[in-house]
Amino acid sequence: MMDKKYILAMDQGTTSSRCIIYDKQGKQISTAQKEYRQIFPKSGWVEHDPMDIWETQLEVSQQAMKQAGLTAEDIEAIGITNQRETTIVWDKETGKPVYNAIVWQCRRTADFCDELTSRGILDDIKQKTGLLIDPYFSGTKLRWILKNVEGAESMAREGRLLFGTVETWLIWNLTCGRVHVTDYSNASRTMMFNINDLCWDEEILDMLDVPKCMLPQPVPSSMVYGETDPSWFGGSIKIAGAAGDQQAALFGQTCFNRGDAKNTYGTGGFMLVNTGNAPVKSDRGLVTTIAWGIGDEVTYALEGSVFVSGAVIQWLRDELQILDDAAESESMARQVEDNGGVYIVPAFTGLGAPWWDPYARGALVGITRGVGRNHIARAALESMAYQTSDLIDAMEEDMGHPVEKFRVDGGASANDFLLEFQADILGRDIYRPATIETTSLGAAYLAGLATGYWTGLDDISDNWQIDKVFEPDMTEDKRKRLLNFWHRAVERSLKWEI
Ligand code: ADP
Repeated sequence: MMDKKYILAMDQGTTSSRCIIYDKQGKQISTAQKEYRQIFPKSGWVEHDPMDIWETQLEVSQQAMKQAGLTAEDIEAIGITNQRETTIVWDKETGKPVYNAIVWQCRRTADFCDELTSRGILDDIKQKTGLLIDPYFSGTKLRWILKNVEGAESMAREGRLLFGTVETWLIWNLTCGRVHVTDYSNASRTMMFNINDLCWDEEILDMLDVPKCMLPQPVPSSMVYGETDPSWFGGSIKIAGAAGDQQAALFGQTCFNRGDAKNTYGTGGFMLVNTGNAPVKSDRGLVTTIAWGIGDEVTYALEGSVFVSGAVIQWLRDELQILDDAAESESMARQVEDNGGVYIVPAFTGLGAPWWDPYARGALVGITRGVGRNHIARAALESMAYQTSDLIDAMEEDMGHPVEKFRVDGGASANDFLLEFQADILGRDIYRPATIETTSLGAAYLAGLATGYWTGLDDISDNWQIDKVFEPDMTEDKRKRLLNFWHRAVERSLKWEI
């Protein structure tokens, strides 16, 4: 009855908890989703209640099973994917968090990060963790909790408190405190994990004043970590896979070989390229991260992010009000022959890789008297493609190897104009899969691989189905000319705010 079993994927995201149940062909059988509370105690601070995270994730999982009429016996395994870097500290005796979860977006440790940077340890941190020193990553958030919550530091030293990213917290709760682990991909976002040796880095822990006894055991992304307590689903289920959301999406897109890349066009943009079994150091502002670990083998990735991707379309809708919904941008863009010379650089909150300029601000340049709203909509979509193109250039230079397979997902990947233009500006084919639900699918695959539900990577690759290939149709001359204009526009947006 093997083929009648299913994989349950938990997708714990920044604004909602979701559950999707998959069959062996990677088809969705049941889904449930619930939003939960965002807490903004101060400007630049973002928190979640860890109990909300756990309770909503449990609730949607129970609901998805119930909707499909499934019991614990019908579920082969659970795979987890999660918002990354978000930091939780709890009391292992009571199971209660000592503070809210500090969310990846939270900037509260910016001053401490500046101080660390001024100590001249940037290269050392980069070499060990693959990361830049930034409040984004978990390490300084954990330190903040230990220094600011009364009694936390001494309790942590006594071995009473535990730290975890979100997958760790969920696994600990699902097993009623029996399993305290973190998968390599999540560990690699903490700025405390040595991605070369696959262990917590003692020197960094000393620098952050974090006692090692509170850290979870790092483990591969695909392996049976333990079983759920029977109280949650009316029987125990194996928990067999975990990965951070972006890495899970890379896996769900079956980017299994060196040079395979995926880009997610969501609110922001996230691009990852598989760099194979060795970490590649970036000279172009990308971060080096663990994609996943399976058995003894670890796969690495280079990652670059675009702060404002689909959000530029939201800006046209909500602020400029030149369109009613995001999808309309496509027909508007098609109503004009070209961008009319207009370029938008959506540097609303500065620019990320490869520019890294927090002082850059948005620019709308090249306007002439004949420019209308359709040109602006087109320029906005084009900006999403240009930013991705800059990331690919940086990746190829760092890797010394071309990006060979380029797959896309995320809400805005539904826009054919965007992907046609992206193919043109990259001069290469772009693949859009039939399911753009790649994140939860990746978590499901990791779990199913561990239990033998899927026999290997080839078995999974067979499931990947294409919706559409976008082929380039632009002369080299034109591509160069447009990119040149784009880069001149970027120049004008840099170092704006002083
Ligand atoms: P996230 O998961 O980051 O919240 P999604 O992957 O759901 O976001 O993508 C939503 C983003 O994509 C929004 O910023 C929206 O403006 C943009 N978007 C959605 N559909 C389209 C479309 N057809 N064309 C262009 N942009 C779109």
